[in-house]
Amino acid sequence: MTTQPNWFTELSDSGTIFGLELTEAGKLHEEQTPFQKLAIYDTTTFGKLMTLDGCTMVTTRDNFVYHEMMAHPVLFSHPAPKRVCIIGGGDCGTLREVLRHPEVESAIQIDIDERVTRVSEMFFPELCESNNDPRATLAFEDGIAWINNAEPGSLDVLIVDSTDPVGPGAVLYSEEFFRGCWRALGENGLLVQQSESPLVHAEKIIKPMHDTMRQAGFSDTKLHQFQLVSYPTGWWSCTIAAKAGKVEFARQAAAEVLTFPTRYYNAGIHQGSAALPQFLKELLG
Ligand code: SAM
Repeated sequence: MTTQPNWFTELSDSGTIFGLELTEAGKLHEEQTPFQKLAIYDTTTFGKLMTLDGCTMVTTRDNFVYHEMMAHPVLFSHPAPKRVCIIGGGDCGTLREVLRHPEVESAIQIDIDERVTRVSEMFFPELCESNNDPRATLAFEDGIAWINNAEPGSLDVLIVDSTDPVGPGAVLYSEEFFRGCWRALGENGLLVQQSESPLVHAEKIIKPMHDTMRQAGFSDTKLHQFQLVSYPTGWWSCTIAAKAGKVEFARQAAAEVLTFPTRYYNAGIHQGSAALPQFLKELLG
């Protein structure tokens, strides 16, 4: 069935294949940006689909899980998240979630590829609805160059919503990058980064990523896991790292009584997503 012309299929490095049935409209847009191949599809059950270099990035149907988990656990783990930076995140869904927090006073987004944002504005306008928030700034450059020039101590929360650690995204998993992140964060600073699949990337990506974060100066790392159908294996994660001290649920009371709508995140999900299966507890310590 997956060879039928009206299917999008992604073959991943985990030896798995993911497919979405396409409508008659099928592929709605395709371009080679200066950095990656960008495509948009219309699917029968998941709405619109954005891919970069053939990898699923965003679907209308399940992006809320990913964007809420990339924003809310880290923001409620910080005592006073005012100054936020997103590196990557070009589809703008994470930015929208960040700006739901009234404590946030500034949110700058640094994506290497402006075309991702412009195409997202066309096909995922609901993800871009906060782009004109007066607190938001959109900038387009390499995240590692931006972080290396960032004012030390100038950020409270840094969100790395990058592509996989290949291609332009690879540098965003390096010790040099994490050192730049550590330097740019203030005293209670927290970094969160999407950390791939616990099922097939634990040993080769997640564990080395946590170790590299600690080598770069971070004092603690915490994995939050969640299901995400449209990513390889359907089991995904993000990692929160603390500049100093421990990663803690600092504003649990506020998370218990959310002042804005969510569809996935709540205080129970915050805590539950950090409860790790035995193999991950043993691997990550
Ligand atoms: N949700 C996706 C996922 O988990 O794979 C990622 C969302 S977003 C589309 C990923 C973004 O990272 C892309 O827009 C891409 O342009 C951006 N990106 C990749 N490498 C980058 C770099 N070195 N600096 C800044 N942005 C980068």
